[in-house]
Amino acid sequence: MDPMTESAKTEAPPAFHVMAKPRGPICNLGCDYCYYLSKERLYPGSQFRMTPEILEAYTRQYIEAQRVPEITFGWQGGEPTLMGLDFFRLAIELQEKYRKPGMRIINALQTNGTTLNDEWCQFFRDHNFLIGISIDGPRELHDAYRHDKAGNSVFDKVMRGVELLKKYNVEFNVLCTVHAANAEYPLDVYEFLRDEVGAQFIQFIPIVERDNETGFQEGTKVTKRSVTGRQYGYFLMDIFDEWVQRDVGRVFVQIFDVALAAWAGLRPGLCVFEETCGTAPILEHNGDLYACDHFVEPKYLVGNIMETPLVELMGSEKQRQFGLAKRDMLPRYCRECKYRFVCNGGCPKNRILRTPDGEPGLNYLCEGYRTFFAYIDRPMRIMVNELRAGRSPTNIMYILPREDAKLSREFARAGRNDPCPCGSGLKFKYCHGRRRRTKRLTGRRERR
Ligand code: SF4
Ligand code: SF4
Repeated sequence: MDPMTESAKTEAPPAFHVMAKPRGPICNLGCDYCYYLSKERLYPGSQFRMTPEILEAYTRQYIEAQRVPEITFGWQGGEPTLMGLDFFRLAIELQEKYRKPGMRIINALQTNGTTLNDEWCQFFRDHNFLIGISIDGPRELHDAYRHDKAGNSVFDKVMRGVELLKKYNVEFNVLCTVHAANAEYPLDVYEFLRDEVGAQFIQFIPIVERDNETGFQEGTKVTKRSVTGRQYGYFLMDIFDEWVQRDVGRVFVQIFDVALAAWAGLRPGLCVFEETCGTAPILEHNGDLYACDHFVEPKYLVGNIMETPLVELMGSEKQRQFGLAKRDMLPRYCRECKYRFVCNGGCPKNRILRTPDGEPGLNYLCEGYRTFFAYIDRPMRIMVNELRAGRSPTNIMYILPREDAKLSREFARAGRNDPCPCGSGLKFKYCHGRRRRTKRLTGRRERR
């Protein structure tokens, strides 16, 4: 390695997570809220296929650049399975060729699930792939924005994909977006994913979609499909209630895990809630590296790995500044917020509001984040206490109902606008006195 690259290595973060898009934005579906389909315009005339040469250069450089014993190759799109199995067979061969002694390599692939068959699932099993599958809830909700190019439902195909993953014992998690169509049905979504899909690991990703012609992070208008901050907060609160009563230690919801880590004084471990970002770049099919999946725009192109080694791109001033801007642009309102330790102002792509005192850069989801974090503060403290005492945080499922029962008289006496007796700092009507806004698909009003 030349001295230039050697010094770049010290500038680059010791570990980072590249998500490669070997087929670029090409996908067999045409989901309404997809932020990536429009990226086709960045490469007019391209076939959107990563060549074996680029794959080999990437594999070698990615492994060389990391100073940790375990690395993850992330594959995404578009739909990465449209590259065909031979591409991934080669990827595994190259990983073996360049793997450092003792290094563990994990492959994580995000798919819409519709292309999966026995051959794919056998391959995933043989090579321990971790599969992320996109499902937005039961049929009615999944079909709202996810469909093929002609607008047809793909729900049955996705569920067939899930069954195949289970048949071959492939480890999978569910990525569920939260948007205008499913936000009012948190329990339908959660129970479906838990009971019918059998998901143990679930991510709830808010759809906050800019309404503009460019497809870039420009302007402050969002589409009607976007979830509101308030909806997102209540969506998480209703699911949290269900989870904290029954599923702790059994179902892992990413934002609950992240919160527990933060309450325990650890790093959140998810870029959205980290203080800085810049360690999760995107590799496009032609070797172009962009700062982040949500900033695949000419302005955020860091360089091409066929011209500049990946380690230099990761250590470059441009990428460093991208990462630091997240912290440095934080408005005072966030800097002084009691939930900064877990939230850190959220993802910069969603910072399109002004704070109450007029400063720009407040997260569009702030209202939801604040309410949700206030609501879970008490259970989080209880779980952390259990952890620190060497006991299992699953004890929360017994402790919380006992504590709530002790407060029941105060709950009964509280006025709607009083502070909630649980100590969350929220008004009673937004906390333990809230009537769940949740609708049920059957039309039933929710329990409680
Ligand atoms: S911009 Fe948002 S999605 Fe991208 S790395 Fe930063 S926090 Fe993560
Ligand atoms: S909850 Fe709102 S004010 Fe607090 S850090 Fe997050 S975005 Fe900022």
